[in-house]
Amino acid sequence: MIVGIDARDIRFPTSRHSHGSDAMNPDPDYSCAYVTLLMQGGKPGGNGLTFTIGRGNDLCVSAIQGLGKNLIGYTLDDFEEDLGLASRLLLHDSQYRWLGPEKGVVHLAAAALINAVWDALSKRAGQPLWRYISEMSSKRIASAIDFRHMRDYLPEAEAIARLEAQADGRHGRIATLLEDGYPAYTTSAGWIGYSDDNIIRRLKAAHAEGWRHFKIKVGGDLQSDIDRCALFRKTLGNDVRLSVDANQVWDVSEAVNAVEAMAPYDIYWVEEPISPDDVLGHKAIADAVAPIRIATGEHAHNKVMFKQFLQAEAIGFCQIDACRLAGVNEVLAVMLMADKANIPVCPHAGGVGLCEYVQHLSMIDYVCISGTMEERVIEHAAHLHEHFCHPIEIRNGRYLAPTAPGYSIDMWPESMKQFEFPHGEVWTEETVT
Ligand SMILES: [Mg+2]
Repeated sequence: MIVGIDARDIRFPTSRHSHGSDAMNPDPDYSCAYVTLLMQGGKPGGNGLTFTIGRGNDLCVSAIQGLGKNLIGYTLDDFEEDLGLASRLLLHDSQYRWLGPEKGVVHLAAAALINAVWDALSKRAGQPLWRYISEMSSKRIASAIDFRHMRDYLPEAEAIARLEAQADGRHGRIATLLEDGYPAYTTSAGWIGYSDDNIIRRLKAAHAEGWRHFKIKVGGDLQSDIDRCALFRKTLGNDVRLSVDANQVWDVSEAVNAVEAMAPYDIYWVEEPISPDDVLGHKAIADAVAPIRIATGEHAHNKVMFKQFLQAEAIGFCQIDACRLAGVNEVLAVMLMADKANIPVCPHAGGVGLCEYVQHLSMIDYVCISGTMEERVIEHAAHLHEHFCHPIEIRNGRYLAPTAPGYSIDMWPESMKQFEFPHGEVWTEETVT
């Protein structure tokens, strides 16, 4: 039985070296509100986190502590019997719901808690999360989803039918994942705060490691964006894939102009060109710059946003986030809707813990939902994996399938001690200097 919730404010000073910098977020300190479910008798529970970029991480910790009280008194058997229970207990708290609804700090907090429950269940089953879900019946997977507000697009019976249509091939695809892993691309060479020399060095090193799909940050002034694309092609040639990410800085007409100017450099996708809430703006850009496709989703705060992006045919890639959406349950809902729309799911990752999380989600998509890796890639960024007990493993630009039980999010106690804000030694040192 859950008897308490431990929530901690963990921050990494990534801004000191411009790691993670982009046009909208020049100085992120990659951070997480980290939650542990405390079980009766000290039995093993689960861990989860939600990702932020520094200031405000404490608000997520507070929300986790408040919302998390809804889970106390329930057992893992309760959550196992009803896969939608944790999600309902957290998202249907009417007073907290007022602060969203289903967006912002309360939704980020719910994600950390819901993911901690899935971590606990899959650990107890002795399976990595992707495998735990891959071995459930179609009906059981669908039972995790709250179809309210989405059944006009995807009713429950149709969701089950879509899952059922892929059921026969699941075992073969599990074997394929264990053998070959899952394709990926890297963002680590092209943060906006990096100098040209730094970018060239990182691109060459990543290429030598086996990466063939890269993403660079744009959204500075237009000439510098064009120069970055030119630098990329000059460094690695035309035989590799290039996507660009503007992190929301443009207006619709600016985005169209910028994409047209970068088009000669063979752009695979353009990510977050404008406000993440502007569904019709994305549609206008997509129509104007086709066949270049638009990617978004890392700031799409719930399944209803994704439903509208998909209904409007406004996006060409669906970038789910493991902890902006309310955990595994809401991600399953979005991946099923993307499948209906025939839009590839390419998760947002990087940050801290996001790569560890989303590898499971793409693998669930492949085994249970889409049945294909065609046009699908998981984002990769190279930082902060050393703080996790079971970090991602990459070989030749592909994620290897995780094998440790759980959701791969356990952080080393020593890391948490060192980076806890504001009293961990990394932060007290900064105050002194
Ligand atoms: Mg992005």
